[in-house]
Amino acid sequence: MSRPTVVIGNWKMNMKIKETIDFITELSPMLSKTQGKVCLSVPSTLLKVASEAARGSEIEIGAQDVSQYESGAYTGEISTTMIQDSGGEFSLIGHSERRMYYHEDDEMIKEKVTRAILGGLVPVLCVGETQEQKESGQTEKVLLDQLEKALGFLNENEASAVIIAYEPVWAIGTGHAATPEIAQEVHGVIRGFVRKKWGEKNAFRTPILYGGSVSPDTIKELIKMPDIDGALVGGASLKVEAFAKIVNISRETKS
Ligand code: PEP
Repeated sequence: MSRPTVVIGNWKMNMKIKETIDFITELSPMLSKTQGKVCLSVPSTLLKVASEAARGSEIEIGAQDVSQYESGAYTGEISTTMIQDSGGEFSLIGHSERRMYYHEDDEMIKEKVTRAILGGLVPVLCVGETQEQKESGQTEKVLLDQLEKALGFLNENEASAVIIAYEPVWAIGTGHAATPEIAQEVHGVIRGFVRKKWGEKNAFRTPILYGGSVSPDTIKELIKMPDIDGALVGGASLKVEAFAKIVNISRETKS
């Protein structure tokens, strides 16, 4: 038995209300009937309209970031409860753009994961090394460090709620995805981390997604790899045909 695929589109700071409704309305009938999860990570202004448009379909809606605080004087932030109130079921946490441009550190990311889990929101933890770290042979060390700091404190039950996305920073938005072999090697390390911390059951069921220049052309070879369970898709998730192809190729290749 294999794990169902999970494909998440990360819209970043793109899309408006009408485009969102049109996209979701078009996407739904394009999806193949094969088992698998399909999700859209949308700007917070679109959470409600996206969840309404997705109602009755298999598409799940989530956020791109979540506050580490429950409520209060945190101008500009949105909480777990607010995301859920708008129909969101998950949130990306620790995306490299948040780490780089908004200086999110490991402590903050840990607090965000904690808050999401306490509130019943699925955390999609993003980890990945920079080009420089890759070139100096630090990939494994950097990833294990990011994973330990963000998730190491969770118990087995809490950890079973987490989705992990491996997003090498050098592959994001560059048009150069990691080779399937490189991605598989890293995914194997990540699954090994989960196994060592929380046992075989969690290692088996934790979805580990690859992200970084995934396209309809690159997904097939990536998804064939045993430890790649799906994809986190940026640029190609803004075009409904391309995104549907990525979802369908993932599902059909893994089934
Ligand atoms: C991302 O930013 O999560 C991402 C994977 O982007 P892209 O697919 O455009 O590389």
